[in-house]
Amino acid sequence: MADIQIPEIKERIEIPNIKTGATADYKCYPASEAHMTKLGFPSKLVDNWKEKLIEKMAELLKKYRSLQVYLDICVKCGSCTDKCHYYLGTADPNNMPVARQELMRKIYRKYFTPTGKLLGKLVNAEELTEDTLKEWYTYFHQCSQCRRCSVFCPYGIDTAEISMAARELMDAIGMGQKYSNEIIAKVEETGNNLGIPGPALRSTLDFLEEDVKDTTGVDVKFPMDVVGAEVLLIAPSADFFSTPHVESLVGYAKVFHQAGISWTVSSYASEFANFGIFIGNYSHMQKIASRIREQALALKVKRIVVGECGHAWRVGYSFWNTLIGPFDFLDPKYPAPQHICELSYDLINRGALKLDKSANDEFTVTFHDSCNVARASRMGKKPGGQFEIPRALIKATCNKFVDMAEHTIKERTFCCGGGGGLLTDELMELRVKGAMPRVQALKEVIDSHNVNFLALICAICKAQFSKVLPYYKMPMEMVGGVHQLISKAIVLGAKE
Ligand code: SF4
Ligand code: SF4
Repeated sequence: MADIQIPEIKERIEIPNIKTGATADYKCYPASEAHMTKLGFPSKLVDNWKEKLIEKMAELLKKYRSLQVYLDICVKCGSCTDKCHYYLGTADPNNMPVARQELMRKIYRKYFTPTGKLLGKLVNAEELTEDTLKEWYTYFHQCSQCRRCSVFCPYGIDTAEISMAARELMDAIGMGQKYSNEIIAKVEETGNNLGIPGPALRSTLDFLEEDVKDTTGVDVKFPMDVVGAEVLLIAPSADFFSTPHVESLVGYAKVFHQAGISWTVSSYASEFANFGIFIGNYSHMQKIASRIREQALALKVKRIVVGECGHAWRVGYSFWNTLIGPFDFLDPKYPAPQHICELSYDLINRGALKLDKSANDEFTVTFHDSCNVARASRMGKKPGGQFEIPRALIKATCNKFVDMAEHTIKERTFCCGGGGGLLTDELMELRVKGAMPRVQALKEVIDSHNVNFLALICAICKAQFSKVLPYYKMPMEMVGGVHQLISKAIVLGAKE
């Protein structure tokens, strides 16, 4: 902690003066040869990496037309330059979205455009060299793929998609990142990111059953591998083992119990997170998600409900249908998948749950919109449901709620600083600095309204804020899930 220079939290977020190379040394660990091999990538940098990368780039440009459009249409208007939390927190100019894009664009120009081939540096086209590759590895792993910059770009250029493509290209030549690739290998082997075997999962669920019985006197079940249950719950595995995540799992269980919905988790598909998206690799996304379809069929469930996890909701909401659909075997009355927030919201609106707001009177709550929920998916039937539904749930469970500043929430929310495969210890300095804009907005409501609970619907945000808030002298205990609030407020027992 002592080694990290903590950004000063000022009255408003200031645009920093450029510090060239400020984060050039922030590097994530490379993937091991064993993990690269497991994922079907070259185990180390291939000899002909230059040809391979250009060849793969040609393939991606053909496959993802959006990538080519994004590389072609930037007019250098500058509108995105001060919109990235990593630039605001570190001042490294390569963390300006347009500069990050330019790392790939200059190579694209050189090898794929007539003017770049002909005029080279005159049109900012550059040869692919080892130095470029080093820059790619550094700065495409300093993008949390949050898409905030795209909201402010008049053309909607999505830097996240460029980062995803860059990581796909680097994996293809044997230059992968340890954190994401190790986790992908683990989930493909064991069914969850943490490598938890079925018996360990069962004992955790048994412990939670006993704990809820002890604290409430009510027999709330935490079922596993139950054939014929109505709902298959797919939660991020952090919900089973991490704090505060597990409190939300208890909340989901209480909601199912009180609504009389039979449910189960699966020991084979015990992970909602899908890090395949972080490395831009659709076949790994599909492989990870396939377990869920297999289990939904094997357990003969009618619905798939998913827990609090931001990027995973994007994968589920936007990609599952083409990756593992169609879901014609599920009950068509419900969305497939359905977010646990949608389910609880629907039950509350129908009067199926009783909530005692005073149970959360110790809290003044604010809500952090997670990037992938806010800018890459939706909830409910109406546009903006992803903003309204979590807030409606919070307001139904507590008496004191306050939003952070308008320019830092909803579509314009700031990333927690740990998304996109960057939630790894060696990037802690980047994570702390990248969290600065969100922390600034949080401090405002702490100072003005005594906020003491930061409600979240993302496993990565929960882990990231628990770790970085103490750097800013804010207590990690203020971090929690929306269903943690529901868990406290829900009135269990016979309905009136
Ligand atoms: S996607 Fe997010 S992290 Fe990446 S450049 Fe844009 S604002 Fe920064
Ligand atoms: S806002 Fe869009 S067009 Fe303008 S510099 Fe950024 S990426 Fe380019």
